[in-house]
Amino acid sequence: MQLTDSLGRNINYLRLSVTDRCNMRCFYCMPKEGIFKKGHEAVLSYEELQLIAETAVGLGIEKIRITGGEPLVRAGIVAFLERLAGITGLRHLALTSNGLLLADMAADLKRAGVQRLNVSMDSLDPETFKQITRGGDLGRVLAGLDAAEKAGFPPPKINVVIMRGVNDSEIFDFVEMTRRRGNSVRFIEYMPVVREQGWQRYCISGDEILQRIAGRYNLEQVDKGRYAGPSRDFRIPGAQGSLGIITAVSGHFCSECNRIRVTSTGQAKGCLFSDQKTDLIPFLRPPDREGLEQTLRNIVTTKPERHGISNDGYTHKNFTMAQVGG
Ligand code: SAM
Ligand code: SF4
Repeated sequence: MQLTDSLGRNINYLRLSVTDRCNMRCFYCMPKEGIFKKGHEAVLSYEELQLIAETAVGLGIEKIRITGGEPLVRAGIVAFLERLAGITGLRHLALTSNGLLLADMAADLKRAGVQRLNVSMDSLDPETFKQITRGGDLGRVLAGLDAAEKAGFPPPKINVVIMRGVNDSEIFDFVEMTRRRGNSVRFIEYMPVVREQGWQRYCISGDEILQRIAGRYNLEQVDKGRYAGPSRDFRIPGAQGSLGIITAVSGHFCSECNRIRVTSTGQAKGCLFSDQKTDLIPFLRPPDREGLEQTLRNIVTTKPERHGISNDGYTHKNFTMAQVGG
């Protein structure tokens, strides 16, 4: 079955957040004091998350990415992933992590049936990494990448948020990773969600990132897979890993968007930057499969055509990526 929105976009991808807590405090994602801790009952139980996943797959979702906050900090995550992997019709189960706990958990994640890992890593310099994450240990993340490959995962995809004056001098180091280590690297435009003063100074467009890379390397265009997100993908001839540019802010994105999102508190969203969201709790407590199915269908049908974050005067309610799942 295919799930199609009112503009004919095939919606086959659900990003499911299992927690808004995190063991890091990346400055672009969360305030340093963390985010308001919700009570236990506000966060969906694994049974509720499973019901959402099963219902979405029944409607035509083929790929689920587990995200957060940091998904690996939630107790019981491995057993949950194993149950998700068993859902009939789910073709692709992936997880996005900051990698801090990966060294200890990679083998269990592989056994549970996770197929791909994305790891967010914004610097290859331990000090810069510490500053961006407010204390994170780069060595642990690199050990996590090694453990993932040892456990049998393909080299994890690396997500890098590029910020001017913070880590843009490392663009070529990340490019080199695609041939040195074989990881695919995706450069993400910095999005102003935690609005600290003067946030504009960090913004650097995907086009500029691409121009800088193309000024030094020959790039081949890469054909994307069926579930790939809306990145533009390239490869240095001969490199095992590819390079992706995600221009979420500056555009080229919405017409190919194939995803919906559900937060760890049960808010479903058709667009990351829309204030439009639907509370799924009434269909989970008690479980109402039919109501849930209809509601998820509506979210797809009413999915906005595009976000307006690059429009003049655009405003949205403040949120943190950790609450919505990036
Ligand atoms: N904790 C996990 C991690 O860091 O990969 C998963 C959740 S995190 C919210 C998901 C993705 O959102 C990460 O790749 C992160 O870099 C990205 N992200 C968070 N805040 C962002 C921002 N302001 N601009 C661009 N990307 C952001
Ligand atoms: Fe945590 Fe990921 Fe947000 Fe960093 S980007 S604070 S690791 S949720």
